[in-house]
Amino acid sequence: MEIQELKALIDRLEREKILTAEEFALLVENRTPELDDYVFEKARAQAGEFYNADVYIRGLIEFTNYCKNDCYYCGIRHSNKNADRYRLSRDEILSCCEQGYELGFRTFVLQGGEDPYYTDERLEGIVRAIKQGYPDCAVTLSVGEHSYESYKRWFDAGADRYLLRHETADAMHYQKLHPASLSLANRKRCLFDLKKIGFEVGSGFMVGSPYQTPQTIAADLLFLKELQPDMVGIGPFIPAKDTPFANEPAGSAELTCFLLGVIRLLLPAVLLPSTTALGTIDPLGREKGILSGANVVMPNLSPVRVRKKYALYDNKICTGDEAAECRFCLQRRVESIGYKIAVTRGDRAGWVNPAQK
Ligand code: SAH
Repeated sequence: MEIQELKALIDRLEREKILTAEEFALLVENRTPELDDYVFEKARAQAGEFYNADVYIRGLIEFTNYCKNDCYYCGIRHSNKNADRYRLSRDEILSCCEQGYELGFRTFVLQGGEDPYYTDERLEGIVRAIKQGYPDCAVTLSVGEHSYESYKRWFDAGADRYLLRHETADAMHYQKLHPASLSLANRKRCLFDLKKIGFEVGSGFMVGSPYQTPQTIAADLLFLKELQPDMVGIGPFIPAKDTPFANEPAGSAELTCFLLGVIRLLLPAVLLPSTTALGTIDPLGREKGILSGANVVMPNLSPVRVRKKYALYDNKICTGDEAAECRFCLQRRVESIGYKIAVTRGDRAGWVNPAQK
């Protein structure tokens, strides 16, 4: 395909904010460095319209690596007997928040495996304690698939946001990445429940996961358009030792950045993180993500003693650093490319707080 035809597709995406599945797949299959730059420039302009040169930060607290699930790609899957398991107590979580608040974080993300130790009630208590101590902060949960009732309970306790990547919008592909106990249908049910309850919702997928094709990526993009999430998290798949996919190749930083740019044009006001996984496969990955249209970074606030243990994939960066080091390292990186970190909850542009509706 001629570069002019591809650029014309990007122009139409910019204008109409949608393409067909066939057109998305064509873009993925035929992209070149020149097309990448064409997308990045437009994506940066769009991000600038909504967020100027601001980059929002989220303090990530990885509070448990116990998990009852067995996703084939994930280093903390239940069957991985070599994973060194840990849980943070409520007080440890609160002390991460205390440190984080001083460092300018106004969003705390509690992420973990699906760990039945954190019952609805226990997690509710933790959410309430954080909201009580830091009423000007947003609390984000990222703890996998639960019932409508559990989600509602956490929302009523004050949780503002929920991150749940759909992982892939192709049901057959989904089944190649997960055991039979997990399904795309339930993942989607969760996402629509979360939206209905009133959470700001983040979804997304891994780039370069095993069996991914231009067609499954097209399905991901169309699903995102349908879901209309507030945030989209994408990062390269990176193999994790002691998993069924240990010897599979990693996804590329280039394709991740291309898709960040495409998603910025598809959902112009969306919150788009430049992920730690992107920084792991490319030393300048997070900077490149921002220059491709991303506007969020999620430095780690977890205590250093557990950092290495939350090993979703191999060679994860920043596992030896204290929270403050991560925070200032990212600030330097963001400023080196002409952006700045904003001390704010950082809701999606145009988002209306349900409490004020
Ligand atoms: N248990 C929660 C949190 C999952 S961890 C949940 O189910 O949502 C957050 C994300 O890390 C996952 O959604 C997945 O997309 C990503 N991830 C897991 N293993 C990975 C790997 N090997 N490489 C890259 N990303 C991975």
